[in-house]
Amino acid sequence: MIIVQKNTIKEAMPVFSPQAIESWRDDLIALQIQSKIHWNYPLKRFNTLKVGGNAACLINVLNHFDLSKILPFINRHKLSWFVLGKGSNLIVPDSGWPGIVLRLAGDFKYWKPDELVHQVKVGSGLADATFAQKCIPLGWTGLEFLIGIPGSIGGAIAMNAGAHGGEVSDFLSKVWWMDMDGNHHEAKGESLDFAYRYSPLNGKNGTVITDALFQLKRSNSEMVRANVEKYQKFRFEKQPQNLPNCGSVFKNPPQGYAGRLIESVGLKGYRIGNAQISEKHSNFIVNLGDASAQDIIDLMTLAQKKVREAYQIELVSEVQVLSF
Ligand SMILES: Cc1cc2nc3c(=O)[nH]c(=O)nc-3n(C[C@H](O)[C@H](O)[C@H](O)COP(=O)(O)OP(=O)(O)OC[C@H]3O[C@@H](n4cnc5c(N)ncnc54)[C@H](O)[C@@H]3O)c2cc1C
Repeated sequence: MIIVQKNTIKEAMPVFSPQAIESWRDDLIALQIQSKIHWNYPLKRFNTLKVGGNAACLINVLNHFDLSKILPFINRHKLSWFVLGKGSNLIVPDSGWPGIVLRLAGDFKYWKPDELVHQVKVGSGLADATFAQKCIPLGWTGLEFLIGIPGSIGGAIAMNAGAHGGEVSDFLSKVWWMDMDGNHHEAKGESLDFAYRYSPLNGKNGTVITDALFQLKRSNSEMVRANVEKYQKFRFEKQPQNLPNCGSVFKNPPQGYAGRLIESVGLKGYRIGNAQISEKHSNFIVNLGDASAQDIIDLMTLAQKKVREAYQIELVSEVQVLSF
């Protein structure tokens, strides 16, 4: 879990210089991977808050073989790195990212169902909403809530995403990941210590989730479709639409809902720069246009302070605030 600290990002060192990249650029090219390497790439495009600077290097990783070469390379060069899903739960520093960002594409987006036993094996780059949609004609129930989560399956497992009383780990039969030496691992879902928006396999622990097997329950298409539509309607009514955001900013504390606490200390609609605590849902921060990552972090810090002072409750960040 990342605790938000004020000024983490403002005080960060300059991100990268051509000289800094030169020390590893040629070695990376020499790996001769098929995956596309982008230099100095804007990360704003790849997070739902639409904030942050450029990555020194972003790699669209196409297959397991390339990944098994890239991770040991990162390890050898001691580079700062992270694995990006769909960026729907991330705050990327305004100053950018000095090392490598991995984005799982190509072979990581497959969907391979076994209709007899209502199981499906998927690549971790598959979109959550695609997963939910594919369950409709099959009449498979359990993960309909994924329709409203704009992330990837890898991100959903890494965050143990959930909604409407369910969590991804409830249906996870098996998961595969790679470590920083490029070794493959697998485990049964039930053997891993998942918790509320926590998974031991989050990339920040040096693990990249590559594949997953889910066990769904048999229902019928009409019922599954009805659930999907109900959840979509709920989102439309309760959550901000059409403004960049990252979903719930804070985890709900045991004492209640983070949104209600933030609203009760008078912060609903409060703005810092172009970041605003949503008028529709106080546990959402929206980007009104060109907000900085720092504006968002400052708003988070303010909400934490006010709630702490009023209730002695510590709001813990759900969104992953990246720092290097
Ligand atoms: C409008 C909106 C609504 C949302 N609603 C919900 C909700 O109802 N419930 C909920 O739980 N969340 C919700 N979220 C938050 C977010 O969508 C989820 O946490 C989602 O699972 C993140 O997936 P991602 O692919 O975007 O991950 P990212 O945001 O890209 O990454 C999140 C974390 O996961 C790690 N990660 C990503 N992929 C991998 C991988 N393959 N291997 C290892 N680590 C990985 C990243 O390094 C990072 O630490 C919402 C967000 C938005 C914008």
